[in-house]
Amino acid sequence: MNSPMKTIIEPFRIKSVEPLRMTTREERCEILARAHYNLFRVRAEDVLIDLLTDSGTGAMSSEQWAGIMRGDESYAHARSWYRFRDRVQALTGFEHIIPTHQGRAAERILFSCLGVEGKTVASNNLFDTTRANVEYLGGRGVDLPIPESLIPSRELPFKGNMDLEALEALLAGDADVACVILTVTNNSGGGQPVSMANIAGASQLCRNHGVPFYLDACRFAENAYFIKLREEGFADRAVESIAHEIFSHADGATFSAKKDGLANIGGFLAANDDHLAAQEQELLILSEGFPTYGGLAGRDLEAIAVGLVEVVQEDYLEYRLASTCYLGEGLERAGLPIVRPPGAHAIYIDAGAFLPHIPNVQFPAQSLCCAFYEEGGVRGVEIGTLMFGESAKLELLRLAIPRRVYTQSHIDYVVEVGGQVAKRGCDLRGFRLAKAPKVLRHFSAELEPLG
Ligand SMILES: *Cc1c(COP(=O)(O)O)cnc(C)c1O
Repeated sequence: MNSPMKTIIEPFRIKSVEPLRMTTREERCEILARAHYNLFRVRAEDVLIDLLTDSGTGAMSSEQWAGIMRGDESYAHARSWYRFRDRVQALTGFEHIIPTHQGRAAERILFSCLGVEGKTVASNNLFDTTRANVEYLGGRGVDLPIPESLIPSRELPFKGNMDLEALEALLAGDADVACVILTVTNNSGGGQPVSMANIAGASQLCRNHGVPFYLDACRFAENAYFIKLREEGFADRAVESIAHEIFSHADGATFSAKKDGLANIGGFLAANDDHLAAQEQELLILSEGFPTYGGLAGRDLEAIAVGLVEVVQEDYLEYRLASTCYLGEGLERAGLPIVRPPGAHAIYIDAGAFLPHIPNVQFPAQSLCCAFYEEGGVRGVEIGTLMFGESAKLELLRLAIPRRVYTQSHIDYVVEVGGQVAKRGCDLRGFRLAKAPKVLRHFSAELEPLG
């Protein structure tokens, strides 16, 4: 945007490299069978391009590594805690900042203290760990995405939005709503952004009904940049200021620093309510750690504080969105239908549309996932019936892009693998579940190929 050149380059150079290990197709077929066709069970060194998740897989900058050395490991009130707290407060404007070892710990503490038992938690789309934490505590998770979000080919600027009419109806009805938590960007809904108007609208409805309004803010910077590019009135605003406005609509937030914290571990829970924050800190001490470190080392707090500055830089965000879009358009050209338009952190291939001969109960997206690994050692993740059970609305294969890790030639390779997979199309077969735990079954399930 700022440069007249057409090529958007990686806005960094490489100082330290991590070798990749090549495998043959035969080796990969054997590895896949041994892993019971679940890519979560495959060793990372047997993967060539790892697009399983963008969570905690990013590369840290030289400044972040310098922060690692600066880390103050004092138990209470370390320097690193103040650096972390001050940065999070400046960015979000929230009063109380509670560090946690990752996002799901923040979720568990929040829902425990709000008391969700027998109550409803509504969202545009609850992420899998968020839903699991609500349900584990005896609550009911309700997704209220806009109806268009369920049509993968539908092109909309803010396809991650919540259906505000449906929210109004829920809040006005008999359901006892413990809180609304809006996911920005909407990960389970195709990584699509939420508009500022939608965030403000959901917040207002919650206020009218006296229901707490939270953000699942894992990808707040990517969402803020989409708002800058696509929503009227934001083009000239700094991303930091847009992010600040996003947070200003909420009573608090949960955050995984493994995403837009540009760190390998960490998270926080933020709140404005003094009484609630005191309860949350009590629970934090019980399970995570003292309130000035949560589940983290001082050096982690430093890395996150620096990451939260770097992530709102526009050169970075421009490259981030452009490189993800490049993968999406390449895969489409290779013949694979994707969720349109491309999001920021991942490309979602519409396995339901591509493999109509495999019924959802036979996990078409998992079949596509295994094919990407067999063909080229590329690891993605199924987001469909294996992850969500019968309540899954779409069958998607997500290829998530770690931040600042892979170069354009890696992505070109993934596109070439996609072309090979596209050619196999109707030869791909479904799977049957051989063994699975009750909650979050996709992490450890064992599968058997059919026919
Ligand atoms: C990753 C993620 C979480 C959970 O965070 P963890 O750090 O993995 O525990 C919650 N919500 C969304 C939208 C996420 O992407």
